[in-house]
Amino acid sequence: MLLEPLARIGRDPATGGYVRDAWSAADMELREWFAGEAGRRGLDLREDRNGNLWAWWGSPSRERPGVVTGSHLDSVRQGGAYDGPLGVVSAFAALDLLRGRGTEPSVPVGVACFTDEEGARFGVPCMGSRLLTGALEPGRALALTDDAGDTLADVVAEQGREPHALGRDDETLTMIGTFVELHVEQGRALVHEGRPVGVGQAIWPHGRWRFDFRGRADHAGTTRLADRDDPMVPFARMVLAARTAAAERGVVATVGKVRVSPGNANAIPGLVSAWLDARGADEAAVRDLVAELARAEGDVVAGGPGAGGRVEVREESWTPVVDFDVPLRERLARVAGGDTPAPILPTGAGHDAGILATAGVPSAMLFVRNPTGVSHSPHEHAEQADCEAGVVALADVLEDLCR
Ligand SMILES: [Zn+2]
Repeated sequence: MLLEPLARIGRDPATGGYVRDAWSAADMELREWFAGEAGRRGLDLREDRNGNLWAWWGSPSRERPGVVTGSHLDSVRQGGAYDGPLGVVSAFAALDLLRGRGTEPSVPVGVACFTDEEGARFGVPCMGSRLLTGALEPGRALALTDDAGDTLADVVAEQGREPHALGRDDETLTMIGTFVELHVEQGRALVHEGRPVGVGQAIWPHGRWRFDFRGRADHAGTTRLADRDDPMVPFARMVLAARTAAAERGVVATVGKVRVSPGNANAIPGLVSAWLDARGADEAAVRDLVAELARAEGDVVAGGPGAGGRVEVREESWTPVVDFDVPLRERLARVAGGDTPAPILPTGAGHDAGILATAGVPSAMLFVRNPTGVSHSPHEHAEQADCEAGVVALADVLEDLCR
């Protein structure tokens, strides 16, 4: 099995899910694995200022940028084995295939592993690629906190990295001539198409917002209902309103993370922080949904008896629609598809390839069929034969791009 070497790292034996937070012990072990794979193949291993890893076959330069492939090794909490690692493992396997074919690339070929793609620990997805391209201001990133209250600055320093080195890195960026990310499909379009491999068309605009509902912590038994200032109530209303507002607009909205403080079963909370994720094909509809929720909660908080103190809404990330380079994606579809061009699919999931594309790096994606469409869950799966077809398609694409 392609992912076997990573199977035990960060795996929760109770659930079978993976917990691979950025800069955690599991992440460090995954980085070591990456370094080992690079070393085994005689590739030149580099870690950039933002913690992204690069394994180069050949020496890229500003004048001679490389063709890069890869993905990420971190996961959502209780995630599956494929989201991220499939792209990195396939990248090394595709490189082996090229070497086996005797391919002599005219430009350097690189394997990349981006740091903290999922944003499971600090709430901001694609942290490594956003910092690299300057889409995320380093001061803001360094001040983000994890559940333990540690800042990103603390955490990277603890792992022996220099926090003040974080930020836009043109030296690294100019080494990437083209980027191709292979990823397990997060949906069932390829099942309907009856094809093992597809090509990315576009990434929906998407964002994350943090809602802080403030109230007053108090005793659950002795505080009369009328006297309560309970932030859990407007929070609950927001979750229901998000669902309705999303359905009305033909977009999706999710509250998947909530932090209740102080978190006593016998007390009214003082603070409820909730993260709203909203996405859709239409950017204006997504924006409108968030604006409506913020407005509605403001009204509820202002007017509702015992509803809570106040709400503060902060945008933690926003990624506009990303249309992948049209000639590049058509070229990929031709090369990866064999006799019939591979299907070209839109996606609701964000990826580092999207961040690079927004920064002007010609980027593209290959998707590998996912029989159930489930992802971000231990049930995420791809058949071995499809993973192998993905490696062959990726090798064909790299060979074509580095000719
Ligand atoms: Zn991913």
